[in-house]
Amino acid sequence: NSSLHEIDPDVAAAVDAELHRQQSTLEMIASENFAPVAVLQAQGSVLTNKYAEGYPGRRYYGGCEHVDVIEQLAIDRIKELFGAEAANVQPHSGAQANAAAMFALLKPGDTILGLDLAHGGHLTHGMKINFSGKLYHVAAYHVDEKTNLVDMEEVERLAKEHRPQLIIAGWSAYPRRLDFAEFRRIADEVGAYLMVDMAHFAGLVAAGLHPSPVPYADVVTTTTHKTLGGPRGGVILSKAEYAKKINSAVFPGQQGGPLEHVIAAKAVAFKVAASDAFKERQQRTLEGSQILAERLTKEDAVEAGVSVLSGGTDVHLVLVDLRKSELDGQQAEDRLHSVGITVNRNAVPFDPRPPMVTSGLRIGTPALATRGFQAEDFREVADIIAEALKPDFDEAKGKELKARVTALADKHPLYPGL
Ligand code: PLP
Repeated sequence: NSSLHEIDPDVAAAVDAELHRQQSTLEMIASENFAPVAVLQAQGSVLTNKYAEGYPGRRYYGGCEHVDVIEQLAIDRIKELFGAEAANVQPHSGAQANAAAMFALLKPGDTILGLDLAHGGHLTHGMKINFSGKLYHVAAYHVDEKTNLVDMEEVERLAKEHRPQLIIAGWSAYPRRLDFAEFRRIADEVGAYLMVDMAHFAGLVAAGLHPSPVPYADVVTTTTHKTLGGPRGGVILSKAEYAKKINSAVFPGQQGGPLEHVIAAKAVAFKVAASDAFKERQQRTLEGSQILAERLTKEDAVEAGVSVLSGGTDVHLVLVDLRKSELDGQQAEDRLHSVGITVNRNAVPFDPRPPMVTSGLRIGTPALATRGFQAEDFREVADIIAEALKPDFDEAKGKELKARVTALADKHPLYPGL
């Protein structure tokens, strides 16, 4: 029963260093968040020892009486949170939730229609070397070059041309809301299922700050670790009529034993997500991204060649367009890293640079909102980012900006006492 530090000082030291990194820098990767200590405790619990193939009340292993309680709590809570008819909380990740949902609804060789990866879609929405691109015939829709908004006329045209069995609405990098009713109309017109992947914006939906896809979609998938703020994992919500097919596509179709320690942590996160404090946090998340978008469209940012795709944001992230800047995505990511702000470079639609370099940044506010950032703090961090992306950046300025980052990190301690 020795501790991690005693058994494995090498791993322990790296874990400690990662905690320090999270505490002392500003995390602005749009898909990341800080799980509450209660979630970390559930995930680090003895539930990791338990096999529980099957579903609550129908397991292939003995001794499942306690994990049954936990998994049922997770199912009931997320159904309630999103008003869904059915939920499967076992997918190990968002990618596996999408894979299982597609296995349930499609046969290999069927056609799917999703947002192009280069325009903000996810790998699992039909990328060539992902399972989705290998198993299915793929048609991809895009954003309009002028507005940077999803081109619904193209969606309809491609749907009529390719007659997909499944249309996927959802994104990894898109700063606006999708029109779920219009996707539903198009899906009905061509006899396709509609799946919405709300991995990124699920927290906003839970808080009532983003339209819910649940009334429109046959299936809604999500991760639990992004805006939802829980453990890393996936969930599939669906209409009751697909529940059986989806359950069997997850287990035994795709997975073996569920990760009951993660499912316990999901249950805790869903309870937290139903609270007023969570809603208030999502409001600050949105306010923060809007403050950032505003700051990065001011005159001095425009002079530095920086702009914001679609001119603003309705969600928890901003897509920064660097096509007119002297910095490419890689250089901008490195520059922000040097002052203590973590973001990821991201292709912008119609990007002239290769995917490993890119001409954009994706900057999100969920983790800082969880840390307690208020509007004035977001104004300060937005200003630091705008200053860092200017051509006059040098060592002295880097030092000054880093000190301002440290002051913000100190003002909002993360995991005190851990
Ligand atoms: N779906 C969307 C829209 C995502 O952005 C992501 C992750 O980035 C996923 C699915 C996959 O989630 P995971 O990384 O847990 O497999």
